[in-house]
Amino acid sequence: MSESKPPVKKVIPLTVSTAPIEPPPGADPELVSLYQAHKKIYPRSVSGLFSRWRWLLVWLTQIIFYGLPWLEWGQRQAVLFDLEARRFYIFGLVLYPQDFIYLTGILVIAAYSLFLFTAVAGRLWCGYACPQTVYTEMFLWLEKLAEGDRSMRMRRDAAPWTLEKFARKAWKQAMWIALALWTGFTFVGYFTPIQVLAGEFARWDLGSWEIFWSFFYAFATYGNAGFMREQVCKYMCPYARFQSAMFDKDTLVVTYDRERGEPRGARSKKADLSTLGLGSCVDCSLCVQVCPTGIDIRNGLQYECIGCGACIDVCDTVMDKVGYPRGLVKYSTEHALEQHWTKQQTLRHVLRPRVLIYSGILGVVVVAMAISLALRIPFKVDVVRDRGSLARIAEGGKIENVFRIQVMNASEQTQNFHLSVEGLPNLEVASEKDISVESTQSRWVAVRLQLPYEGAPPGSHTIHFKIDAKDLGKSVSEKAVFIVPR
Ligand code: SF4
Ligand code: SF4
Repeated sequence: MSESKPPVKKVIPLTVSTAPIEPPPGADPELVSLYQAHKKIYPRSVSGLFSRWRWLLVWLTQIIFYGLPWLEWGQRQAVLFDLEARRFYIFGLVLYPQDFIYLTGILVIAAYSLFLFTAVAGRLWCGYACPQTVYTEMFLWLEKLAEGDRSMRMRRDAAPWTLEKFARKAWKQAMWIALALWTGFTFVGYFTPIQVLAGEFARWDLGSWEIFWSFFYAFATYGNAGFMREQVCKYMCPYARFQSAMFDKDTLVVTYDRERGEPRGARSKKADLSTLGLGSCVDCSLCVQVCPTGIDIRNGLQYECIGCGACIDVCDTVMDKVGYPRGLVKYSTEHALEQHWTKQQTLRHVLRPRVLIYSGILGVVVVAMAISLALRIPFKVDVVRDRGSLARIAEGGKIENVFRIQVMNASEQTQNFHLSVEGLPNLEVASEKDISVESTQSRWVAVRLQLPYEGAPPGSHTIHFKIDAKDLGKSVSEKAVFIVPR
């Protein structure tokens, strides 16, 4: 047997040409196009279990979002993030920037909740609670109100301009703009007391910050929910890109049961499936028409699918009409479809180690945060050394160090504090010892500490300020350094 020669590799020198690239003769010019023209999607409205869940969440999240800033708590807004005063009011809680740890806790809880929900049922957040989904749903509802359902909208868009078309489009735009402006106003109402803001809007006496954020947020809502819609999910949202890392073969996702559905095809209601050799899919394309991202779930799991369940709802109504069992499109797992598991078996496998670990960590963080908030002392103290002098000799030959102390009252009542110091024998507070701070306010006080001459060897000595809140019966201790010069 003769040995075949190894193929000779041809080295092609890399050159850069500035000549325009010509497509090969006969090639479809679309093949060299890098971008696909955007095709407008007209989602058909749908009703069913998942649609009801989506609307329930739209109502719930929006009642909270639009209503919360109007809620009063005593003499103030119940939820207010006052950035100017650096105070964050959340019902009975008054947080300072020093309480940053709670924000970290909230972010950890949000991240683990997302991991957990995604591991259990894929893009639950996207399909039901994401602001992009919620506002798109609301804008679509207004669109339907002004222009009718899918087929009517498509017909009208294709038809030439008439007075009626103009009036309907204008009415839709007016409703969209009103909703977007109200959303922008509400958003700013979380940072500026909303009743004050409403008065400022009425008098058109707004600060530049308020004007910018109200209109910017309104514009973002209008653009994203009115025009960009599914393009935000497809091209802008980073979550769509990394979600697959959180999926596995036991994650519940919206799935088309290919084994049962194929071969698809239209048939008469009375036709016998076994003689036709067809599957359950009647190829009505309704699942594509209701899809807000315009995909065909029958092509398998796609990153554009936001898991909204609209295709499940519509396919179930089709199955009901033709008299087949529901669930041709359903929430299922890859394993369940492969192994033909029952619903109970599928759900049992969803509770796997990954889900239990996420739940465990989430539980621990939530409990730790609840305990920490319950035990939180409602005042804070910051000690800053006076930069003007390290140490000096005061009247009577005593060594004096000066500090500035900030006492932050995070309670809703005026508090009286008593200041003392520990750490060196005969070290005493030579300035005001009793400090009163009004509710939710903070106060800076200059504090002079004095030590008898030669009361301690030269050098730095660790001391502790002790601040007692007399009415609360609580105290905090802050470390500082007392300097004795040579
Ligand atoms: S809605 Fe159901 S029956 Fe109709 S095309 Fe989609 S999968 Fe097939
Ligand atoms: S494929 Fe179904 S679940 Fe996915 S986005 Fe479209 S309608 Fe929603």
